[in-house]
Amino acid sequence: MNILGPTKTFALDFDSVLADTMVIWVKEYNERHHTSITKNDIYAWDISKILPITPEEISKLFNYVWEYRWQEIPPCEPNQNSTIENIHKSGFRISILTRRERPTVSYVARWLDHHDIFSDDLIFVYDAMPKSEYPFDFILDDSPINLIDITAPKIGILFDQPWNKDFQWPFRIKSLQSAPGIVLGEDKKII
Ligand SMILES: [Mg+2]
Repeated sequence: MNILGPTKTFALDFDSVLADTMVIWVKEYNERHHTSITKNDIYAWDISKILPITPEEISKLFNYVWEYRWQEIPPCEPNQNSTIENIHKSGFRISILTRRERPTVSYVARWLDHHDIFSDDLIFVYDAMPKSEYPFDFILDDSPINLIDITAPKIGILFDQPWNKDFQWPFRIKSLQSAPGIVLGEDKKII
């Protein structure tokens, strides 16, 4: 308990919510394949339906980008650190919850340090357990697959990205700065 009442947990996905990974993923793809696709061309979750690339190559490229080009990966938006700090100050635990393969784990911490982003914990998911089973009150994620299993009282918020435009979901935001409006209620904006 704190002065604001029981602490709730706000879980944040990492790739494509905090780190705009696909910007550098497509750059690397273009360099290798002599193409000129952009992040906006990735209009479906399953990239292998859009580009001639296998799921194995997709994740190999993802891992490569994190190991060798992580410093180039931009934040999804400016001032993420102060937005997250404000959410934390209003009584939320910040839990970063990311599914990835072991070789890229250390680069997540480096990226978060580099961009001065606070979290109470940092959880790496390796196995098949759905994110929805982890402890949180709210989760912000760009993946429809991670949101569909969420049941009340947990609330899933979709982070708008080109690959999730067709997914119908009650809470969709284009900026992390809109998150407090949902987790605190529209009348209690803190930013
Ligand atoms: Mg993601």
